[in-house]
Amino acid sequence: MPTIYRVICERCATEEPTLGIEGGCAGRVIHDGGGEKGILTQGWYWAVVSTEASLVPLRHPIESSILAEQRMTFFTAGIRGRLVYVQQFACDDCGTLYEVAKQRFFSPATTCLSTLGLGACLFWLSQSHGRSTAAIVSATLMAAVAVLPIVGTWIVRVVYRPLAAGLPSGSCPECGSARRVALDSNIKKRLPCPRCGTRSVTVEMAGIS
Ligand SMILES: [Zn+2]
Ligand SMILES: [Zn+2]
Repeated sequence: MPTIYRVICERCATEEPTLGIEGGCAGRVIHDGGGEKGILTQGWYWAVVSTEASLVPLRHPIESSILAEQRMTFFTAGIRGRLVYVQQFACDDCGTLYEVAKQRFFSPATTCLSTLGLGACLFWLSQSHGRSTAAIVSATLMAAVAVLPIVGTWIVRVVYRPLAAGLPSGSCPECGSARRVALDSNIKKRLPCPRCGTRSVTVEMAGIS
């Protein structure tokens, strides 16, 4: 459930023509139809690298059907290095919005399944082997569930390094600066505006995808 942000320049807001949704929104975003200005964009979203090497956003909540069109699931996309986590950044020097995509093994689906399986397993253990055994197994399983995505992500990034070369990463595509802020980082300060050049851009929460 990514947060939607409104990025707006207070100086030239009246000249900005349209509301725009960038990234992986599935059209469930409630927004004011034209009264407000600025750019609406998600702080982050999941995407999959298609066989044609393009980035296909997994729009919430229809992630699974988009993956099915690509003949993948969260798991198979993850182990093939094609599941990516895309984060939206703003350049702190020129204000350009840009995305950085990184391969990840972790997926919401595997986490849900792990949690469900863990709960059922622990209930059975506490009934048959007593609570202390269940507690030890619980701690071990929770550690495994926490570590698995980290180890899996590391392996996937090593094995599928060439695939990562085609993903948007690094510094600002406009000015080359590496100074950037993630929209999800609760930006308090004003950012520079790519249009008028003044530090008049604010980032505020506008909804949830
Ligand atoms: Zn820049
Ligand atoms: Zn401006």
